[in-house]
Amino acid sequence: MKISLMKKLSLGFLIVVLASIIIASIISNYTIQRKFNNYLVDEHKTKVDNVVKIINNLYSKSSNLSIVDTDEIQRNAELQELYIEIKDINNNTIYSSGNSYLKHNTMMDNMMGSMMGNFSRMNIGEYSEEKYPLLSNNKSIGTITVGYYGTSYLSSASVAFISTLNHSFMLSAIAALILGLFISMVFSKQLSKPLVNITETANKMRDGNLEVRASTDTNTKEVAELSHSINYLAETLKNQEMLRKRLTSDMAHELRTPLTTLKTHVEAFIDGVWEPTPEKLEIFYDEIERITKMVDNLRDLSKLEQTNLNLNKSNFDISSELKKIINTFKPLYLEKNYELNCSIVPELKVMMDKDKFVQIINNLLSNSYKYLKPNGKVNVILKKENQNIIIQVIDNGIGIPEKDLPYIFERFYRTDLSRNKNTGGSGIGLTITKAFVDAHGGKITVKSSINIGTTFTIEFPNIITF
Ligand code: ADP
Repeated sequence: MKISLMKKLSLGFLIVVLASIIIASIISNYTIQRKFNNYLVDEHKTKVDNVVKIINNLYSKSSNLSIVDTDEIQRNAELQELYIEIKDINNNTIYSSGNSYLKHNTMMDNMMGSMMGNFSRMNIGEYSEEKYPLLSNNKSIGTITVGYYGTSYLSSASVAFISTLNHSFMLSAIAALILGLFISMVFSKQLSKPLVNITETANKMRDGNLEVRASTDTNTKEVAELSHSINYLAETLKNQEMLRKRLTSDMAHELRTPLTTLKTHVEAFIDGVWEPTPEKLEIFYDEIERITKMVDNLRDLSKLEQTNLNLNKSNFDISSELKKIINTFKPLYLEKNYELNCSIVPELKVMMDKDKFVQIINNLLSNSYKYLKPNGKVNVILKKENQNIIIQVIDNGIGIPEKDLPYIFERFYRTDLSRNKNTGGSGIGLTITKAFVDAHGGKITVKSSINIGTTFTIEFPNIITF
């Protein structure tokens, strides 16, 4: 059976409130009862000692025991709810207070039992007697018997006190329960509302609506984090969906152009309008080459995504390797009057896959070349920061629009600017570059402004050797 979060929390809260009240009342009843009993026993002892003292006083003054005025003893016995009996040395009773007034205690016993419940039940009701010597000039002239019911020393004030205490516990239990119910409902509503909202958002996403977002308006940290995660998920799914659609249309576009060229040329051959001369067949070849390149790219990429990249690591001088690559690009750049400069820390030795490193730099430099404008400049930097190798390729080319920046490492993603420039790119170079950098535990980032230029920064940690 599934219980809603709200019910679960409310129930838990109520159980805690109830348990706390019960535990508090048991502990306080027990402690108070113990203290009270000790206090009452002391009080009883003092009371009996006093009565015995009064009796001894009265009898020690009189030479004839039978003519002592016993009114005072009777008054004390009734007042203190004690039974008093006095016997002479020959065991003849010379005074007895009688016990009619003591019956009252049995009633009180019953009353108290029902009022206080089990927690506060004291040792009331049973009758006990104590014997004391009757003394005159420190000589025993008889015995004093003091009898009492357990309750005789439990004054009605103390009974009332404990009973009031228990009533207060009951009242506070009811009040705490009502308050607890109210607070737990408010709390659990506060907690469950955003969760319900998140569930609704997730359900809408499941139904294909990737525009919905969960509300993050909550002060519960974990729930807020969950909302952010769900929203992040929705954003990622939306972007993936956009990329998927874009990829399909891009691929269709890339394939259509060479196919259309081929088709029109073949039609012209069939209609006898064109002679299949070697120059014309050359155009065929170029178009077929473009399609083949695309298919190769696709194959490379799927390989890259399916298997873990195997790195063939070796120890080499990254500084001189980078210089070599730059030198091979120089003539290409010079042809168009572009500048290609570098600032390279010499003799840095690293442990990495050399071929992959060459491909990373080739990709970045050919990109910069493709997207430069007249008076184009590219600067390549290699430096060491702590134990990290930093490589930067900085150009002053056409730049990348901000909206495209998060996607340029995605497969087949190309900005409209590069499309218009007809560079013949396929949007796959950076995907491969990033995969190679990642495989070395590195990180590649990009910063760009339109018409100002683009900077790619690669950071390789812990690859330096000595
Ligand atoms: P492509 O083969 O199209 O160059 P890449 O994956 O190498 O594919 O690059 C993806 C896209 O990123 C390019 O189409 C281009 O829009 C953009 N891009 C990459 N490098 C640069 C750069 N240096 N300057 C401007 N745009 C760039």
